[in-house]
Amino acid sequence: MKRRFSHFLAGLAAATALVATPVLAEGPTSADLMNDASSPDDVLSYGMGPWQQRFSSLDTLNSSNVSRLVPAFAASLGGEKQRGQEAQPLVYDGTIYVTGSYSRLFAFDARTGEKKWEYNARLPDAIMPCCDVVNRGAAIHGDKVIFATLDAHLVALDRKTGKVIWNKKTADYQTGYSATAAPLIVKDMVITGNSGGEFGIVGEVQARNVDTGELVWSRPVIEGHMGTLNGKPSTMTGKQGATWTGDLWKTGGGATWLGGTYDPSTNMLFFGTGNPAPWNSHLRPGDNLYTSSTLAIDADTGEIKWHYQTTPHDGWDFDGVNEFIPFDATVNGKAMKLGAKADRNGYFYVLDRTNGKLIGAHKFVMQTTWADGINLKTGRPNYIEQGRPGAPSGAEKGKVVFSSPSFLGGKNWMPMAYSQDTGLFYVPSNDWGMDIWNEPIAYKKGAAYLGAGFTIKPIAEDHIGALRAMDPKTGKIVWEYKNPAPLWGGVLTTKGNLVFTGTPEGYLKAFDAKTGKELWKFQTGSGVVGSPITWTQDGEQYVAVMSGWGGAVPLWGGEVAKTFKEISQGGMLWVFKLPK
Ligand code: CA
Ligand code: CA
Repeated sequence: MKRRFSHFLAGLAAATALVATPVLAEGPTSADLMNDASSPDDVLSYGMGPWQQRFSSLDTLNSSNVSRLVPAFAASLGGEKQRGQEAQPLVYDGTIYVTGSYSRLFAFDARTGEKKWEYNARLPDAIMPCCDVVNRGAAIHGDKVIFATLDAHLVALDRKTGKVIWNKKTADYQTGYSATAAPLIVKDMVITGNSGGEFGIVGEVQARNVDTGELVWSRPVIEGHMGTLNGKPSTMTGKQGATWTGDLWKTGGGATWLGGTYDPSTNMLFFGTGNPAPWNSHLRPGDNLYTSSTLAIDADTGEIKWHYQTTPHDGWDFDGVNEFIPFDATVNGKAMKLGAKADRNGYFYVLDRTNGKLIGAHKFVMQTTWADGINLKTGRPNYIEQGRPGAPSGAEKGKVVFSSPSFLGGKNWMPMAYSQDTGLFYVPSNDWGMDIWNEPIAYKKGAAYLGAGFTIKPIAEDHIGALRAMDPKTGKIVWEYKNPAPLWGGVLTTKGNLVFTGTPEGYLKAFDAKTGKELWKFQTGSGVVGSPITWTQDGEQYVAVMSGWGGAVPLWGGEVAKTFKEISQGGMLWVFKLPK
């Protein structure tokens, strides 16, 4: 009896200890995620830190030895679902997590490439992705790995087993919503945007509890719609009808399809918003806020702190979703908190990230037919009116105009990198144009809502793609690398004076960060449209990238398609290191 009682006491003590010390889920915390850029042994987040500068402080691999870089191993995603592989891998605790086309998620051994598990989302037949069945990456937190699926769900899996922990619908795919961006985790919340700008959806940013998937707040980005906070209506976005006519705000577009960045020092999330719907701008006079903009959003409440619209009254599908990358620099002798964005419209913007004030705007492509510069006082483009496609008359299509950039943009989804060492942004850009015209259109749920037609055309003899090193203080292009086919992959830069990016022709390439000299390339067997990463493991520096041609370009290539007609599809994770 006495013995049993002492057992009981021991058991009670153990139980009390469990209650007193919260059982922490094993794995990275939100604080670890904020510190990702300073922890070279892992890659915990999309963009390698909340600022998503894609800069590594590693220099073991550098411009003097990169020519000796060789594959360590490769791993196939397998199956018949070989479409565009636009993902950025994550690396944690000996595992590489990577997403694949058709909403798949894989865990590979980071030393051998052996597959640990694979998760295939069961997608409905009627999903409506506008621009290939891509996925750009996952997020990890605690015991979970989380990604968005093409049927507009957010799924949290057990990192160790790949088993579903929670699965939440974020929007109705039958209305045209989908999701492809990597989630962002801030303060134990999963922050996501939505896709579907070609279907008259309403762009929105959502924050969910990372443990349960329950909604914390939501912020629609089209004026007139109500936000929510803790299950209750919060505030209206903007003022209903201020920059829209009639009911068009109800189907106004502005998809937040590329996700966002986060700045801990201001507690602001930065989300880009896509094109207004429909494309035919003559149907919707006004600025159409907050489409084609960057929004600064309070991470705790979902309130909009400031906005900057890059293309007011867009008529060319110049989605302003491009990533807004925070960086600190001294301007005119003053230390400033800045942010930069290379917009689809062909201009590179530098803003004061505390208030959204325009500091500088520079053209980063060969040609902008729609505007002649940006007015630094008003922040608005100097529009060239002949550059806007004409209004349809009756059932007749409107006047065809040649426009450059094309609707696929001076830069599309593929993320740029910022080197804290060189002070330069490395921008993956494209020089191309299009014939574009407007047509009559009416909104119909779940149907394309463009009211426009187009044909994409090259504008240079020797290239479409151009990787450009931009000085954010002067707007000068310090160097450029020209590529025959359009560039569609992300960029990585390192303290080893290196810049990495992929090409549709199948190469992962390394350049000298200061001069742009090509130092190394490796043929991966299919087009590279993923984002490369680097980390250290067992004392060696590794580089990894996904290979697998696809994305929006082959769907709408026009004459441009000649540059990639020989490229095969694929689905491989490639991992490199220096020989021992
Ligand atoms: Ca890290
Ligand atoms: Ca669009």
